[in-house]
Amino acid sequence: MADDDTRVGTVYLVGSGPGDPGLLTVRARDLLETADVVLHDKLPGPEILDLVPPEKREDVGKRAGGERTPQSETNVRLVSHARAGRDVVRLKGGDPFVFGRGGEEMEHLAREGIPFEIVPGVTSAIAGPGIAGIPVTHRDHASSVTFVTGHEDPKKPESAVDWAALAALVDAGGTLVVLMGVGHLPDYVAALREAGLSGDLPVAMVERATWPDTRTAAGTLDTAVDVRDEAEVEPPAITVIGEVAATRDRVLEFLRGRGADG
Ligand code: SAH
Repeated sequence: MADDDTRVGTVYLVGSGPGDPGLLTVRARDLLETADVVLHDKLPGPEILDLVPPEKREDVGKRAGGERTPQSETNVRLVSHARAGRDVVRLKGGDPFVFGRGGEEMEHLAREGIPFEIVPGVTSAIAGPGIAGIPVTHRDHASSVTFVTGHEDPKKPESAVDWAALAALVDAGGTLVVLMGVGHLPDYVAALREAGLSGDLPVAMVERATWPDTRTAAGTLDTAVDVRDEAEVEPPAITVIGEVAATRDRVLEFLRGRGADG
């Protein structure tokens, strides 16, 4: 059909959830089956990536040599696949709009006139703590929750994260959920202590939440760095800071499922 030559594909910005295929949305699973090509990095986790036939997969995470595919190149690939008539799933760990650069990709597609659809996912920022028995809000312990990147060095003057302001939120009964926060843990823990938070404040780290080999390590602001080092916590992991992190201790023996006991 002549029309086929001019058909533009659709780009689906799809959240994969934290890694357990059972936490994919029905829409996400359907699209993984019907898409012509799936652009992904490693964050969705091995179990979900295994659902996608290898010939459909394009890894836009690490390239040979170790550096990341630049965002601009991912943007270009999304557009050229769609212009070639292919329906594309851009698969992102968790939710595409929580520290996933989905916003940038969406704006690029809009500028280029490519039709797209957003498929939200279960974010690790909520599901990670949740699966480990940590509710991010709790009537008795936390009436707000803040998601923050730990990727920036708090000591750098150009850091966009105001840790003193976040400490005030925790002090007022809030929960802090830090993503990408394994490497700079010592720096932001120090910044929060300096801003006046108690060394006894509960902290938990949930590594590879909902993956088969997930683990949780718990401590306090003062012990968190030692806990991380002793357990050798590695990314991807979520750090939860606030009174809610202690909830886990009260439910642990009854928790079932991935992340329950590690
Ligand atoms: N869009 C994602 C977050 C991307 S930023 C989401 O909504 O979940 C990458 C960070 O997400 C990681 O450094 C880690 O902090 C967190 N993360 C993603 N998946 C995770 C998982 N299964 N377990 C623990 N942390 C995870």
